[in-house]
Amino acid sequence: MFMNIALIAHDGKKAELVSFVLQHKDYLEVHNLFTTKTTGKHVEEAGFKVNKLMSGPQGGDAQIAALVATGEMQIVIFFRDPLDKHPHEPDVQMLMRLCDVHNIPLATNPAAAKMILKGMTK
Ligand code: PGA
Repeated sequence: MFMNIALIAHDGKKAELVSFVLQHKDYLEVHNLFTTKTTGKHVEEAGFKVNKLMSGPQGGDAQIAALVATGEMQIVIFFRDPLDKHPHEPDVQMLMRLCDVHNIPLATNPAAAKMILKGMTK
């Protein structure tokens, strides 16, 4: 099934996200990828085609949350940095809340993201 997949990483987790997408390239590249702006630049440099939304602190997480709310996002992979403070923490909470409201798979670390992708290939 063709899916819209959101990829977001806080600054301290961007390298981990790039490493994750490269490890799962065969699976991810056939889907429609949405990213926040800076995350998207990194993912593009890794060779992927992405739809870049606004930067997270400027409203990118909120844009992805809106797509979740309207049923247009099927998976959210969001590598948060739990060791740093973020000015857009309310948007982060909103995105996670809406994933739960709409029962959208949400992975906040590579181990969970791997399980989700594994589950989707069956
Ligand atoms: P960025 O936003 O990809 O523009 O850095 C991510 C975030 O901080 O939510």
